[in-house]
Amino acid sequence: MNPDVIPDEVPLAEGASPAMAQWFALKARHPDALLFFRMGDFYELFFADAEAAAAALDISLTARGRHRGEPIAMCGVPVHAAQAYLARLIRRGFRVAVAEQTEPARKPGPGVPKGPLSRDIVRLVTAGTLTEDELLEPGRPSLLLALAEGPARRGATRFAAPIGAAWIDVSTGLFETVSLAGPGALAELLGRLDPAEILSPEGMALGDFESRRGPSQIPPPAPAAARARLAEPFGAASLDAFGTFSDEEAMAGLVVLDYVRDSQAGQLPRLSRPSSQGNGEAGEAGRLGLDPATRASLELLRSRDGSTEHSLFACVSHTVTAPGSRMLASWIAGPITDLGRIVARQDAWSFLAGEQPCSALLRLALRGAPDIARALGRLSVGRGQPRDLGALRDGLFAAREAASVLDQPVHSLATLPVLLSRARICLDAAQALEQRLDQALAADLPARLDDGGAIAAGFDGELDAERALRDDSRRVIAALQMQYAQRFGVASLKIRHHAQLGYVIEVPVSAAAQMKTHGSVVLRQGTASSARFSTDELADLDRRIGEAAERTARRERLVFASLVAEALAQPDLPAIAEALALLDVAQSCATLAATGRWCRPTLSDDAAFCLTAARHPVVEAALTRPGRASAENRFTPNACDLSPDRRMMLLTGPNMAGKSTFLRQTALAVILAQAGLPLPADAARIGLVDRLFSRVGASDDLARGRSTFMVEMIETAAILNLAGPRSLVVVDEIGRGTSTLDGLAIAWAVLESLHGAQRCRTIFATHFHELGELAETLPGLSPHTMSVREWKGQVVFRHEVVKGVAGRSWGVHVARLAGVPEPVVRRAGRLLASLEKTRAASKPPLPLFAAAGSAVPGRDAEPDTETSTFDPSEIAALRIAMDAIEPDQLTPREALDALYRLKSIFAASHDVAVASSVDTLF
Ligand code: ADP
Repeated sequence: MNPDVIPDEVPLAEGASPAMAQWFALKARHPDALLFFRMGDFYELFFADAEAAAAALDISLTARGRHRGEPIAMCGVPVHAAQAYLARLIRRGFRVAVAEQTEPARKPGPGVPKGPLSRDIVRLVTAGTLTEDELLEPGRPSLLLALAEGPARRGATRFAAPIGAAWIDVSTGLFETVSLAGPGALAELLGRLDPAEILSPEGMALGDFESRRGPSQIPPPAPAAARARLAEPFGAASLDAFGTFSDEEAMAGLVVLDYVRDSQAGQLPRLSRPSSQGNGEAGEAGRLGLDPATRASLELLRSRDGSTEHSLFACVSHTVTAPGSRMLASWIAGPITDLGRIVARQDAWSFLAGEQPCSALLRLALRGAPDIARALGRLSVGRGQPRDLGALRDGLFAAREAASVLDQPVHSLATLPVLLSRARICLDAAQALEQRLDQALAADLPARLDDGGAIAAGFDGELDAERALRDDSRRVIAALQMQYAQRFGVASLKIRHHAQLGYVIEVPVSAAAQMKTHGSVVLRQGTASSARFSTDELADLDRRIGEAAERTARRERLVFASLVAEALAQPDLPAIAEALALLDVAQSCATLAATGRWCRPTLSDDAAFCLTAARHPVVEAALTRPGRASAENRFTPNACDLSPDRRMMLLTGPNMAGKSTFLRQTALAVILAQAGLPLPADAARIGLVDRLFSRVGASDDLARGRSTFMVEMIETAAILNLAGPRSLVVVDEIGRGTSTLDGLAIAWAVLESLHGAQRCRTIFATHFHELGELAETLPGLSPHTMSVREWKGQVVFRHEVVKGVAGRSWGVHVARLAGVPEPVVRRAGRLLASLEKTRAASKPPLPLFAAAGSAVPGRDAEPDTETSTFDPSEIAALRIAMDAIEPDQLTPREALDALYRLKSIFAASHDVAVASSVDTLF
């Protein structure tokens, strides 16, 4: 947990007033949470809580009484606006314990006990245990994740102990677990789930998710006890009833379950039975491996700036409901490797794409369908309001509508693809509940049950009778007002309800004296402008009306509770909610496919890879945004063929030519294909990818003290350690950020390894054009370049991938395009010409390749570039020379001189003593 959000220490409770003593007792139960202490219409915060909340919410800090001689800092938020304040506090990383009054306010009087009202904590609000719509993002899950370290297994391939992970979405009841092989797999899981709050053993590193760490947990019980206690709330004797769970999964499962129970004051929300996602050796079983760097570079659900606008999700989604968005987001975040499941998803949307009228009707039926799962979540923790039952009613209506669309005469269950037919079977499983809610609920539902009027007239006889009585009393009041006005001779007399005094006669001050002449009235209160009186008759009526209103409210609460119980007892609601979400995703995909620009990829269980006229959906959408669309801004589609005999593409070309776009669009094609979604291409054939590595775009990690080059090497190491023949690797500019020769050598060695050792499908984008020469010795390598045209001294990027190697870099042209001042650009141009002349004169251009010559290792040879391409003494001399250069210490002039000298060393013949030349460099 973020240490900044844990309030400072609480002062000693001794000497506290009775109300404050109660505060101290409640605060002690959750010392690291802010305590919202209900006092009338406000939640009040005290001491350090008040200071922290006032600063975070920008509300005024006041003082209330004194404690141990010091004023007590206080701030408060009105109960009716509490949600908005809670949302802000949770977003800032706070946890909030909400203490409510557990007895009704007392009217002071004889025999009425004094002292503070009793209060208790009814809920702990934390980022991972939210249920309210105001606090949740509708289209994204809200997950609480628990981790537990398992006992190291005999025969485990890694030294790290396995990690059990279990997550619950309190808002929908989802409960899943998985067992992970180690920290790498954990990083991938965190990226996929993006949990709102994480409960993890103290020493376990959470990487970029460290700020989501919840409070440290009591160690989970022994595995056997965890298994038993986890099965208990689901009415099973053993966890085995729900599948196979490892010990660590059971331990994590119990941690997450206990935390949820604790946060809801001992009550568990309605949860699905825990479902194990299996054991993953390298990553998660059955899922495409995506490490955090890959995820960051692909901007799947959010772009780098954290917004959703320019993400892959935003381009793909045509969903019309929040549950549909959540399902689509989880598909995109966690593509799979099971061919059967992928094809089933494809079949579902392809069917609708071929039945456009049906798809359009389905969209109509779903549009505005409420979020059944989240309404159910709130109802199950006793936080449901009339509109949540309304959501079930309207959701079930939408489900019936959707069912009738799928039942159109042309379709039968037999012709529907399997996912659609499964969904269809669920849809009308709760018709009885729908009818009942339809009869029971008023057409216009109040926001809160306490507002009254949730239950329709005619549904419950007793409620109707209470209401009649209550309303009748109101009529009686109106009649009495007229009667009193006449009797007391005050035409402006009103009978009003007053919070403390109940019903009173209210007259202007000017009429007070006249009122007092009547012996039957008693003055209750006088203000500057009016006087309030009561009579015995009015007091009696007040009591009767109050009782009738209370009886009505009580009856309404009772009827509501019985309806909630009926809804919670209906076992099919979660399946109906899921079926509706699936139909929404399917119609969303069908809508994309209907544009004719998104295809259904063919997936296979081999190493095929061929995209025809593929596009980058986000870049394309940005180019064709209204106002920008023009012939110039049209997106250029590109093919990508990484078939086994040319599985590695070397991509050269200047900056801004479209290399990164091409790399990313290829990676995104894999994500979409294995999520079971349509692709932005004319056609695609993809052999299932087990792990996808994308390293595109600078990834500085200066915050953690790593230079760009260090990060790049760490990420390169991860690829070389984990990629295999079923993987796809797209990398941009490996070897930048160090000296040219260093970089070139690293790029060369990595390229060779990917080709010969990992043997994965690869696109390797580089500025080292020299690497093109490796095509002669690496048979799977096909050099490609971004085509560029020069026109009237200007460079024109065509964004087209063509065969070949870039002839030049065009860097100076790009500098001009970027607005580098003209004199600098011209000077750079002259320098470049001069450098190129020197380079041409010194043959060969880089001894690296000359030396490599025939010694370039063959396809399957051990790639040992150092011995095969350099003379060791030359390498040593090279290192000394490079080490001697301190780029940050050099003036531009010295740098240029150093460059000339370095080049002259390499141009010199081999019998020149390189080491001695180094001494003359400066
Ligand atoms: P590089 O990685 O070569 O520097 P980028 O991939 O970043 O180049 O592309 C630079 C810009 O060129 C993009 O922002 C986009 O506007 C445009 N672009 C890239 N690829 C295409 C394409 N295939 N069709 C049209 N415009 C493109």
